[in-house]
Amino acid sequence: MQNSKSKNNQQNTMLETTFPALGTGNRIQAFEYDDRVTAGEALKRAEERVRALHDRLSVFQLESELSLLNASAGCGPVPVGDDAMFLLAKSKHYSALSCGAFSVTTRVLSSLWRLHARCGTVPSRAEVEQALSLVSDEDILLDETAKTAELARFGQSLDLGSIAKGYAADEVLRILKEGGVRDALINLGGTVSALGRPRRVGIQHPDRVTGIAMGRISVENTCVVTSGDYERYYEVDGVRYHHILDPKTGYPARSGLRSVTLIGSSALELDALSTVVFVNGAGEGLPLLKEAGVDAVLVTDQLDVFCTDGLRENFELL
Ligand code: ADP
Ligand code: MG
Repeated sequence: MQNSKSKNNQQNTMLETTFPALGTGNRIQAFEYDDRVTAGEALKRAEERVRALHDRLSVFQLESELSLLNASAGCGPVPVGDDAMFLLAKSKHYSALSCGAFSVTTRVLSSLWRLHARCGTVPSRAEVEQALSLVSDEDILLDETAKTAELARFGQSLDLGSIAKGYAADEVLRILKEGGVRDALINLGGTVSALGRPRRVGIQHPDRVTGIAMGRISVENTCVVTSGDYERYYEVDGVRYHHILDPKTGYPARSGLRSVTLIGSSALELDALSTVVFVNGAGEGLPLLKEAGVDAVLVTDQLDVFCTDGLRENFELL
């Protein structure tokens, strides 16, 4: 653990750890706490928890539970631990809720697009159709009693990239609170969770370098999660192909939105719903958000900004 301490206020020094996991850079900072040693231990435990989630859930770890599940597709059930079981059940829930817009079985399709991204080409319709035929979260079969999971068909593959960071952020927050931390900022590759005093969070401008915001909101004791088309993409003939796929078409989602930023109490829920709204668009997405009690800042293709009622007073355009 890289651990740096800097003077913050009279009682507490800031405790911080930064580390790579879940395919991204992560930073956990604690600013106020009951006891420095206990808080430092909590930070360490939080980092270990995220690293353990990475080891179990990353599809880039050959020995992870998810890799073994993918390798056994169509060949029967494999044992999975509590974290994988919990996230797979949640994924199926959000897939059903979104009529399939959220589908963790898009991995075959993502792999196809990634392959073409490397060559600067676009997959043929036939290639997309072939991959699409393997996308269905209904084919994730869970047996909570036997603690096993299964992908029904040979060739299917899943990836929890759209929900794992949210879960990890919720876990970090829980561990910090248990360690007596009262004020903290958790940033797992852009999935943000804030504890304690109010903070300003920028809404990234989709066409400017990372860090240049187009607006700001003030958050207090909430999570902030964004799905956007500007972080991982490539262009062919002036058309942008990004990493969030629409399981109805097999192509990168084009719902009229450049980014969806959600504000609420569960980072896991926001992580799933931000993908859902990004894929399904404002028309179908906003009623879902209202039902979940989640606020949103949406940036449209025309770079218009739309905020839900709960943020009207709070959002500041830059
Ligand atoms: P980010 O990972 O950039 O924060 P998301 O949370 O929206 O963004 O997750 C995108 C990742 O999820 C993709 O990199 C891909 O692995 C996977 N994915 C792509 N499309 C979908 C989808 N429709 N449903 C679920 N997961 C998806
Ligand atoms: Mg997501």
